[in-house]
Amino acid sequence: MSGTVIKVTKSFTFDAAHFLPNHKGKCSSMHGHTYRLEVMVVREDGKLIEHGSEEGMVIDFSDLKAIVNAEVIEKVDHKLLNEVFSFRTTAENMAAHFFSVLTDKLQPYGVKVEKIRLFETPDSYVEVEDHE
Ligand SMILES: [Zn+2]
Repeated sequence: MSGTVIKVTKSFTFDAAHFLPNHKGKCSSMHGHTYRLEVMVVREDGKLIEHGSEEGMVIDFSDLKAIVNAEVIEKVDHKLLNEVFSFRTTAENMAAHFFSVLTDKLQPYGVKVEKIRLFETPDSYVEVEDHE
């Protein structure tokens, strides 16, 4: 395998509240975060679209933005995450969930999610990627 692989990343932010039942520290009380979500995608062949409106692109940034907004951001922004998800709302569980949802929704566009980073604070993030 030689040559280059071209990946694109788009970043999003959302504000949400949550609490972690049974947490030994202060995260058991309700509090909020400004989360930052970074979504990196790549085409199956690592190359660019060769024809049409998206020639020279991995995916149109506006399409990526619309999908992530519809499938993730609009479901969590200004919400109480404990009411949105049935799993414990750690950044790890949420990042894994977002990875799965976006992988499904982006598949028709010929791209796969290479990596997701979910920042719970500016200096703490979770990274999820496919295990080859
Ligand atoms: Zn928290």
